[in-house]
Amino acid sequence: MALRVLVSDDLSQEGLSVLRKAEGLAVDVKVGLPPADLVAIIGDYDALAVRSATKVTAQVFEAAKRLKVVGRAGVGVDNIDLAAASRRGVVVMNAPGGSAVTVAEHTLAMMFALARQIPAATASVKSGKWEKKKFASGHELSGKTLGVVGTGNIGSVVVDRAHGLKMKVLAYDPYVSAEGAARMGIELVSLEDLLRRADFVTLHVPLTDATRNLIGEKQLGLMKPGAFLVNCARGGLIDEAALAKALAAGKLGGAAFDVFATEPPAADHPLFAQPNFVCTPHLGASTEEAQAAVALAVCEQLADYLLHGNVRNAVNVPSVSRELIELLGPFLTLGERLGALVGQLAAEHMTEFRVTVAGAISQQPRRPIALAALRGLLSHAAEAGQVNDVNAPAIAAERGIQLVEERSDQARDFASLVTVTARGPKGETTATGTVFGREPRLLRLDEFEVESAAEGVLLVLRNEDVPGVIGQIGETIGTAGLNIARMALSRRTARKEALAILNLDSPAPAEVLEKLRALPPIRDVHQVQL
Ligand code: NAD
Repeated sequence: MALRVLVSDDLSQEGLSVLRKAEGLAVDVKVGLPPADLVAIIGDYDALAVRSATKVTAQVFEAAKRLKVVGRAGVGVDNIDLAAASRRGVVVMNAPGGSAVTVAEHTLAMMFALARQIPAATASVKSGKWEKKKFASGHELSGKTLGVVGTGNIGSVVVDRAHGLKMKVLAYDPYVSAEGAARMGIELVSLEDLLRRADFVTLHVPLTDATRNLIGEKQLGLMKPGAFLVNCARGGLIDEAALAKALAAGKLGGAAFDVFATEPPAADHPLFAQPNFVCTPHLGASTEEAQAAVALAVCEQLADYLLHGNVRNAVNVPSVSRELIELLGPFLTLGERLGALVGQLAAEHMTEFRVTVAGAISQQPRRPIALAALRGLLSHAAEAGQVNDVNAPAIAAERGIQLVEERSDQARDFASLVTVTARGPKGETTATGTVFGREPRLLRLDEFEVESAAEGVLLVLRNEDVPGVIGQIGETIGTAGLNIARMALSRRTARKEALAILNLDSPAPAEVLEKLRALPPIRDVHQVQL
């Protein structure tokens, strides 16, 4: 009997014909079903293909007794209840990458629109004016410096096209290896450097804790007078009020947004009052070609999974059996936390990530622990849920990071140990931990023996080993009204260096971190979320 596929959103013909032509599949297209109708019929289907309109809720999964797979023609899976899908053992797939060229072209369109004031000139001509003088001060892109923030799927296409336009390209992306940068032909610089030197700045990063308001008043202040800023990535990356002020003050040449912190933005949004502000209503991925490409990709993936069992671009599949999860459980959490710790301390331009399991745990399959550690490492630079055990190795490979898995019989005085080491051009960062009861514990960070709970918010401080430092740290944190749950200290007397790890009840704001950095004995401060 044929496997039944329900297509409940508008998918391109190219995609549908892949499903229709596949022997062994029977396809029904029912677009715009009310939620109750979807629940009523989903029990008859083995697969569901959607875009963003269909809401695949827990209720739908409850009723979906035969369902094996849901395919999303696009990237975001906000309309699918992933936890409910996993509970029912349904694989959810998306189609990342299909719209990279489209979004990159939209970015270039924004740059041209800004440089030649096309929207304002159009409005002027249509209103019956012929203001040649007013709009005569355009700019060429050729020969200008473009600063690309984030060089993943989309950023790398922007880089490629910008080279064709004879622009000089600078990029800021701490997770790209030197080799990856060389392949793209870009100069990697710090964000500050990029902002100071670029004539055009364009953002292509995910929205994470690290990138929210990445461009605020201070960063806008670093930009060249008359420079242009483009955001076709995510609303919330730029402080919109600060940008409106900078534009009003004539500091920048202009700015263009495809995305806003709140969508749709309010009619009296302060940016709308600025004549050199250009915008589109989140159209970055909306071309016929991109829609066709993502529909085609997801339909091919669905057919491949249903007919041959091949899983591609799954966003929720556990790669470990339930029995193994029970056995390894706390060590998977430990691996993930150690990966996340090292990722936030020293992931810059990393080339190798080594995961070593030692002692009793090394007798078990080590791959799941290595994958959990890699997922932890990569997750803080991605949006929640985007990195999983299935796609983590491919993301690492794209970024030029080699995953090395090792085992050892030697676990010092412990039953089992997990060690993760990140290697990059600036050296190595390494963390070792174990499980006490079921709790993941950090035992060593680089050359420091330090016992600390590997959970929640951690402040990692390195300081000169002189008297009074702990008092100064405690006072700075206490004055800010932050609660220290635990504190672990370690020192290397020979090097007069000490390490303090503080578990905080809540994250310290940026100004508190700055105050700590300003204390004379402090060498560096990192805040880490595990
Ligand atoms: P990607 O994951 O392929 O690339 C993101 C890049 O950002 C990676 O190279 C990563 O290393 C880098 N990065 C992560 N954190 C960073 C940080 N703190 N500083 C600097 N770089 C950092 O993603 P993508 O597919 O290229 O998408 C880029 C953005 O475009 C995302 O925000 C995505 O949501 C958005 N997007 C927008 C539209 C639209 O309609 N306008 C469509 C698709 C994607």
